[in-house]
Amino acid sequence: MSNLNQNFIAGEWLAGAGEIANINPSDLSDTIGNFAQADGEQLQRALDSAATAQREWAGAGLERRYNLLMAIGNELIARCEELGTLLAREEGKTQPEGKGEVYRSGQFFTYYAAETLRQIGDNADSVRDGIEVDVRREPVGTVAIISPWNFPLATAVWKIAPALAFGNAVIWKPANLVPASAVALAEIISRQDLPAGLFNLVMGSGGGLGQQLVESPQIDAISFTGSVPVGRGIAQAAVGNFTRVQLEMGSKNALAVMDDANLDIALACALNGAFGGTGQKCTASSRIVVHKNVHDYFVENLVAGARNMVVGHALDAGTQMGPVSSEAQLRQNLENVELAKKEGAELLCGGERVERATEGYFMTPAVFGGTQNDWRVNREELFAPIACVIKVDSYEEALATVNDTRFGLTAGIVTSSLARASHFRRNAKTGCVMINLPTAGTDYHVPFGGRGESSYGPREQGQYAKEFYTTVKTAYISSGDPA
Ligand code: NDP
Repeated sequence: MSNLNQNFIAGEWLAGAGEIANINPSDLSDTIGNFAQADGEQLQRALDSAATAQREWAGAGLERRYNLLMAIGNELIARCEELGTLLAREEGKTQPEGKGEVYRSGQFFTYYAAETLRQIGDNADSVRDGIEVDVRREPVGTVAIISPWNFPLATAVWKIAPALAFGNAVIWKPANLVPASAVALAEIISRQDLPAGLFNLVMGSGGGLGQQLVESPQIDAISFTGSVPVGRGIAQAAVGNFTRVQLEMGSKNALAVMDDANLDIALACALNGAFGGTGQKCTASSRIVVHKNVHDYFVENLVAGARNMVVGHALDAGTQMGPVSSEAQLRQNLENVELAKKEGAELLCGGERVERATEGYFMTPAVFGGTQNDWRVNREELFAPIACVIKVDSYEEALATVNDTRFGLTAGIVTSSLARASHFRRNAKTGCVMINLPTAGTDYHVPFGGRGESSYGPREQGQYAKEFYTTVKTAYISSGDPA
């Protein structure tokens, strides 16, 4: 095993207690490498070194932090083709999607480089004579970052970059399915001017190493993206230690297509939102809510668009939808196709495992018609290239359907009516609203997060990230002169 398949702990690359194979989901004969699994002792070393390094980092001049973040961001941007290919190879998204994710990850770092220089506090006069008050933000301390496999770099980076920018130490446990992207990022970070132990990569299973990490009283904050059940467990572990916690979890996003919509835009939004990233996005449009007046025409074209999508090896130039990321996820997807049929949905296209030149986890994008919003297939997050169409009689019914979910990450509407767009923007019960845009696709300089079971804790991204990665200190200063 090369040292670049190892954990990065206390400033050193370390072999683990064991290792796992990383297999390309587009070609099961392609092993990307064997990657180290950290044990409890190594995790403890990371925790101890992080605490020491964080004290040095918190005292460092802001330019040192700025330079570090800029260097990482610029390198990611410069290497987006190469690293995007690696990401596509291990996760299964198409090469352009992989490249875009790496480029965007670079932008997160350069954005937060600039945020390091915006760390200006507030001051005030006291209500008492001769006293001034200043309010400043300080780092939280050591942050545990737990990221999922669907955006192996982006979800991790939008946590790592602000954590470092605001003066914290990081212990990062990536999803075990995607260690290669994690090691590639850690390798870039390891070459920068930072105290040994400030940034640690610990790879290992979620239930084992991840659980140990979130239960540690040496962690000051936990930022997690993944499933609702795991998020719930992490919140419980955090409360026991009074650890600050931020959770981004699943969703069941809906795109509403109105009878006044530009149907070309609606179609593009639906296809992109439902099948981009093989449907494995927390922002995916898995419910397509369509007004009865345009229903038949829209659905006919949606099905034609889905049928025309080229499903194949993530690195083939013509591929529009790569494989599902793992065997377990593919099995679950096919079970959900059967579930939808049993519930009475009409399978209009796709939903089948298909073979390609290489053995991989390929399935065709599925569109179900005639579904009801209270069916399980429209209640649970599928994380799959499966779109369910729900027919509605009016805008009011569309809005009620969009909001009838226990999640609340994103909601979209396609309409040419300013009145409907404005009403929807105000009344959709989600953290993000998209007007004439796909439900997926967000910026890095503005907040991201949801309501209900989609999110818990302060928002991520943009300047809002400082609420999570800093703690406020209020200082009262008297000149010492007798009043
Ligand atoms: P999980 O929630 O299982 O995993 C997310 C991350 O948490 C991974 O790094 C995982 O490690 C880790 N983890 C798992 N168990 C624990 C634990 N007990 N303590 C600490 N960390 C833990 O999601 P999956 O990746 O398995 O995906 C399953 C489902 O989650 C998807 O089908 C989808 O519905 C949802 N999901 C939502 C995402 C979103 O962006 N909102 C992203 C990814 C998934 P390991 O990989 O080693 O298990």
